[in-house]
Amino acid sequence: MKKNLSAETLCVQGGWSPKKGEPRVLPIFQSTTFKYDTSEQMAQLFDLEAEGYFYTRLQNPTNDAVAAKIAASEGGVAAMLTSSGQAANFYAIFNICQTGDHFISTSSIYGGTYNLFAVTMKKLGIEVTFIDQDADDDTILAAFRPNTKLLFGETIANPGCSVLDIERMARIAHSKGVPLIVDNTFATPINCRPFEWGCDIVTHSTTKYMDGHATAVGGVIVDSGNFDWEAQHDKFTCLTEPDESYHGLVYTERFGKGAYITKATSQVMRDLGSIQSPQNAFLLNIGLETLHLRMQRHCENAQKVAEFLQNDERVAWVHYCGLPGDKYYELGQKYLPNGSCGVISFGLKGGRDVSIRFMDNLKLAAIVTHVADARTCVLHPASHTHRQLSDEQLREAGVEPDLIRLSVGIENVEDIIADLQQALDA
Ligand SMILES: *Cc1c(COP(=O)(O)O)cnc(C)c1O
Repeated sequence: MKKNLSAETLCVQGGWSPKKGEPRVLPIFQSTTFKYDTSEQMAQLFDLEAEGYFYTRLQNPTNDAVAAKIAASEGGVAAMLTSSGQAANFYAIFNICQTGDHFISTSSIYGGTYNLFAVTMKKLGIEVTFIDQDADDDTILAAFRPNTKLLFGETIANPGCSVLDIERMARIAHSKGVPLIVDNTFATPINCRPFEWGCDIVTHSTTKYMDGHATAVGGVIVDSGNFDWEAQHDKFTCLTEPDESYHGLVYTERFGKGAYITKATSQVMRDLGSIQSPQNAFLLNIGLETLHLRMQRHCENAQKVAEFLQNDERVAWVHYCGLPGDKYYELGQKYLPNGSCGVISFGLKGGRDVSIRFMDNLKLAAIVTHVADARTCVLHPASHTHRQLSDEQLREAGVEPDLIRLSVGIENVEDIIADLQQALDA
């Protein structure tokens, strides 16, 4: 087989290579536990001296195969599945931050992530500073403190649809000796591979395009293996100095490029839980097998729908980076040359009330708290996902009060446009 398989091929075949007589399809290892012959064998597993399965909270063969598939498609060294995207973003940060630490995030991020950072992580004594991702280098650099541990952003922001300048963010983060973590949920590795632009760790809510059918909530953390933790020894002692919970093991010494993800699995997941169920990992794997086909169709449809909306005089504004003239068109061309995703944000003339009435008149497009699956759906973030935020926080998060988030599905695009048309007419 060719050495550097494309993300498309890896999505279909990656992660599971059955030997003679084994199932062609990845099986669900629906078992919490695994058998050993001697007490000593089991003891070695607990000390991370031998590799093997012993308890599904730490590792499970179904989960590992799916994690390996995603790691390969992102071009990373290893990945860990989590029970949700929320858990993925929390663990990705908590793995290298503790009470008294600080990190920086772009402000235009998913509402749930914003709450996690601004409220819950603050209660843990981990402080966040939100920055405007379009601010100049000096402004962003000024947000760094001696205890800053990472920089975070979303490839394509949910729901504002802004595009992150990943290469620039990586340069800024690295100049301060910290990793860049990117939530790549909306782009997926089919349309953007952030590691190729210098990003160090990628997260996903697999609930969205990766699953693609709205069947299973899940998340994943992928490690590029590229960040040199040892070069920042004193900043990341959690990885470079002995872990008492493993008899003084040092992750960077023992696991090298796999230090970060091994710690995430063997310490954070061990202690906090939030593992993805093997059943959900199995469903996620089926979704991944068609990710490349679906993403292509989502993007083709969304491009046509965005053009339709832009040309309708009742529409006040449209954000979609595939539209020439969009604020993020150039960054989109650089990072997402084959298409961005199916999500469009727009507002109607007449503001918030008109937007809500329009949504109520849609027939094919359902109002659901979901995004990025096969079926076209809509949401009004200011009333739903971002309801907890003040008007000022909304603006910071790139959410205008009249913003409608339209997630264009893979149905026939003429049918989708006809539905939008009749709702606008009504
Ligand atoms: C949905 C979403 C999340 C949260 O994921 P869940 O699977 O719902 O927990 C995080 N980031 C982005 C960009 C999302 O769209």
